[in-house]
Amino acid sequence: MNPTDVEPILKQAIRDVPNFPKKGIIFKDITPLLGDGALFALAVDRMTAPYENQGIQKVIGIESRGFLLATAVAYKLGAGVVPVRKKGKLPHQTASVSYDLEYGTDTLEMHRDAFSPGTKILVVDDVLATGGTAKATCDLADQLEASIAGVVFLIELAFLKGREKLKKQRVHSLIQF
Ligand code: AMP
Repeated sequence: MNPTDVEPILKQAIRDVPNFPKKGIIFKDITPLLGDGALFALAVDRMTAPYENQGIQKVIGIESRGFLLATAVAYKLGAGVVPVRKKGKLPHQTASVSYDLEYGTDTLEMHRDAFSPGTKILVVDDVLATGGTAKATCDLADQLEASIAGVVFLIELAFLKGREKLKKQRVHSLIQF
């Protein structure tokens, strides 16, 4: 199977949930895909493939569905996994970045000692929507002077143009809506 062949196979395992978590949002529910062993393996294999043998040392997973994918990708790459979490969840000293939401701001944190300067990292999340979350995560990694090899998503909501916030990065997604 070439890379584009898998998109329709994975797509049929994504469930649209209208008006979740609030009115007007069509939530892309990935639990049917995660719950199918063959599809989960296919998704993780394809997310990992562009980064094999490239010396990735750490995979950064974004709370919370990003953790489910990042952990599997890290295991396949033989890399460590680093959680990026919402403010106040990590127990040790943190670096933090605040970013704008539609209403208000949000803050993401990562442990200051998660990696040393120059570490080659890969950022993983489930959905690229407006790109604010992934951009904030890259800014956090920049604070710790990471070398960011790329940012990979299972799903990209292309109409929201999140890639435009990630122009400095190599960006991959398996499924586009
Ligand atoms: P954004 O910062 O707008 O790119 O939003 C990305 C984050 O919000 C990701 O961590 C996603 O898990 C979540 N997200 C945004 N929009 C959706 C959606 N329509 N369905 C599922 N998750 C979403």
